[in-house]
Order: sequence, then structure tokens, then C-alpha cells
Amino acid sequence: MLIYNSLTRTREEFVPNEPGKVKMYTCGPTVYHFAHIGNLRTYIMEDVLEKYLRYAGYDVKRAMNITDVGHLSSDADTGEDKMVKGAKREHKTVMEIARFYTDAFFADCAALNIKTPDVVEPATNCIPEFITMVEGLLEKGYAYEAGGNVYFDTSKLEKYYVFGEHDQEDLAVGVREGVEADGNKKNKTDFVLWFTKSKFEDQELKWESPWGLGYPGWHIECSAISLKHLGPYMDLHCGGIDNAFPHHTNEIAQSESYLGHKWCNYWFHVRHLNDASGKMSKSKGAFLTVSLLQEKGYNPLAYRLFCLQSHYRKVLVFDWANLDNAQTAYDKLVARIAALEDGPADPADAEETEALRRRFQEALDNDLNTSLAVTALYDVLKAKISGAAKRALIGEFDTVLGLGLLEAAARKAEAAPAAQEGDEEIDALVAARTAAKKEKNFAEADRIRDLLKDMGVTLVDTKEGTTWHR
Ligand code: AMP
Ligand code: ZN
Repeated sequence: MLIYNSLTRTREEFVPNEPGKVKMYTCGPTVYHFAHIGNLRTYIMEDVLEKYLRYAGYDVKRAMNITDVGHLSSDADTGEDKMVKGAKREHKTVMEIARFYTDAFFADCAALNIKTPDVVEPATNCIPEFITMVEGLLEKGYAYEAGGNVYFDTSKLEKYYVFGEHDQEDLAVGVREGVEADGNKKNKTDFVLWFTKSKFEDQELKWESPWGLGYPGWHIECSAISLKHLGPYMDLHCGGIDNAFPHHTNEIAQSESYLGHKWCNYWFHVRHLNDASGKMSKSKGAFLTVSLLQEKGYNPLAYRLFCLQSHYRKVLVFDWANLDNAQTAYDKLVARIAALEDGPADPADAEETEALRRRFQEALDNDLNTSLAVTALYDVLKAKISGAAKRALIGEFDTVLGLGLLEAAARKAEAAPAAQEGDEEIDALVAARTAAKKEKNFAEADRIRDLLKDMGVTLVDTKEGTTWHR
């Protein structure tokens, strides 16, 4: 499989450290508010990647953190703490907020068929691990204490900016608008590993540490949690593109300094979902959620299809007309699958089935081209193979695409009244009665109605025509 690696800025053959096994890490949500559908675009695409790796035969172990502490809204080391902000907004404790929005996040994921990672670890579970790592960085000379906090010293690195895709403006941490420079830092790119002092003294959650009562910086979470569950060599690390800098850059700085070797080989970044006014963002206030889509009558899986129809490395612009199109496409797809003929698979299907499967795999092997994979799904419906072979192949592809197609088609088929024996005869009699009425042959029309009545069929005459039921 070819995958675009943000670290090398090229598409590379994916080769895990250990043959057949993949260690995959995902930056989890900050649980101070509902996830918006932009966040969920990232989780959908990561889910497809994980499922495709499993489909390809890899034994995948995937871990994800839950950021329930110490995530600053500016992404620098100053600014308002998101968790505290959420708690204040809702007059709840930070832990109440975290619990509520963690559950809401997984409910959204379930509605979107996003699998829960093998390991989900809230940051507040791992304070001893963070402290061990900060101690190690201090011992090795990569960190220093200043003004009550512990900072990572970026001047100790040969190369700090490992991802090259950032505007100069983004790189200027500490001089961005609204971000105050932190006088404790030796270098403007240094970042906090452990806080005991910050401008928000009302931080609710604090823990004892060798540096005093305090709490961890954001970036240390992912370094320590991935090390705890996936070990010192990782294959694949995922997140939205905004995570590349400073978050992932700082994760790499800490982890590789602490471990003394290269840490993670492939970095997978999903471009943003934008709306008409630009990037969708929780801090902007008004944003779209899965429940809002549901309230408006959309199936969350139509949103999943909408995401799959474009490449993860392209910015995706949301608008309602596009979601309408995706919903229509989804419904039609389900209807076509529901209408597939029953019957046994034909041995003659094997060759065409293999060709269709190859098309699907080639699409995803090519840097996860999900829109071509969806096209391969339509090709199955058009193919000259039996209904049974089509259904089997659609089910197979959907273990990766996660559109719940066979389930939705089965529900649709169940809801539609099954055609019964004798229906055709009744239809013919109803048509004959309609023709008799048209010719003003009412005696004949009445005769047919009585005949149908004897057969247990009731007629309902409406403006649009005659319907019947048993
Ligand atoms: P957060 O909960 O803010 O930490 O973000 C959770 C995930 O969503 C991260 O991987 C972010 O990079 C990603 N993300 C944030 N905004 C967007 C967006 N507009 N579109 C796609 N992904 C996003
Ligand atoms: Zn992270």
C-alpha cells in the first residue's frame, strides 16, 4: 500500500516495523464540547485506514487518548484552558464535562460506524507516566525548569520543524495574535511539559509532582500514552492536519529525545472540513454536529459517504446541497442492493469478482483513494455477476467503507411488503374493473369488485386510482 507520509512529504510503500503487525496511534478528542462534523471527518478517514489495514491482513493495534486535561486553546502554552472553559460555560466540574462529552463523542462515532480503538486512554489516567517522561527529559538535558514550569528545550534538537507544510505565520509560536509571549522560555519554540504556574490559577485538576502541584502540558499526553500501549517503535500516527504543528512536532521532539531513537515512521494527516466561512472549529461557537444532521433528517452514514467521496488530503467544503446529494446517493445505493435478486452464487462469477476486488484494492492501495473505492462499489452493482456474488462483494468492501449497506438494504427489504402469490391476478382484475368503469360498464365493474371481495380483497378508490389490500 502506498501512503502519503507527512514526514517525508512523499507517497511511500507502507512497511511496518514488524511484518504483519501495525501499531497505530490516533490523537483523540478534547472533550470540552461536542465533536463537530469536521473533527469527525478526520475520525472517519482514520477509521477507513484502520479497517483497510485489517482487510489487507495486518494485525492492527490502535490506541487513542482522550484529552480531558490541560489543552490550551491557543495551541501555544498560553491562552485559555479548553476544559476549564467548558466547565465554566456549563457550571459543571471538569470531570463531569469530560465524562459527558466523551460519551457524546463515542455515540457520534457509533452513528458513523467508526470503530472504537483497541485502547482508549484518558489523559487523567496517566499522570505517573507523564511525570516519568518529564523526569527522563530533564535527566537527559532536554528540559529545564523556569518560573515553576518545566519546558522542553527545542534548541537541543538538530531539527525541530520536522513537517515542512506550515506557513511562516503558523511557525511563529508566541508571536501570534492574541498569544502572549512566555518570558520563562529560553526559545520561542520551547513548550511546557509540566505546569505548576500559569495564568489560570483556577485550574481544577492538579497532581503532586517533583516540581510541585500541577498538571501536564498537552503534547506529553500522546507521547506517554502511545509509549505505554504501543511501545517505543510505532508505525503510524494519525490526526487532523492542524495537529502536525505544533502538537505532532512537539510529540516527536519529546518522544525521540526521551527514547534516543526514531519513534514513528508514518504520519497520516487529514485535511480539514471547511464551511463557507472557513475551517470548522469548536472555538468558533456555531458548528455542525451529528445530532444536528439527524435532527434535520439526514442519516449520519450519508455524511460518511460524503466524506468518502473525496480524498483525505484535499480540503472538503461542506454545504447542504452536497449533503443532500450524498443522502440521495446513499438511499439509491441501499435500494439497489435491496433489489438484488436472490439465488445461489454462480461459479462463473469468480473471475469477474476477482477483477472487481482488485479494482477496490488498487484504489485504497493508492494512498487511500476512497472515492475510487466507492466507484468500485458501483461497478459491482453494474457487473454481470449473480445477485448473491454482488451482495457478498458489497459486504466485503463495506467492512472497510463502513456504510452499513447490507444492514440498511435488509431493513429496507423487510419494510417493503413482500409480493404474495396471486398479486398479479388481483392487479389484472383491478385493471379490468378500471377499464369497465371507464367504459361506463358499471355492472361489469361491480361484478369484478364482488369477485375480489370473495377473494378477501378490499378496493380503495382514490383520485390517483384504485389501490387494494387483503
Ligand atoms: P480536537 O477535539 O479539537 O482535539 O480535535 C480532534 C481531531 O479533529 C484532531 O485530529 C483535529 O486535528 C481534527 N480537526 C479539528 N478541526 C477539524 C476540521 N475542521 N476538519 C477536520 N478535522 C479537524
Ligand atoms: Zn496527540
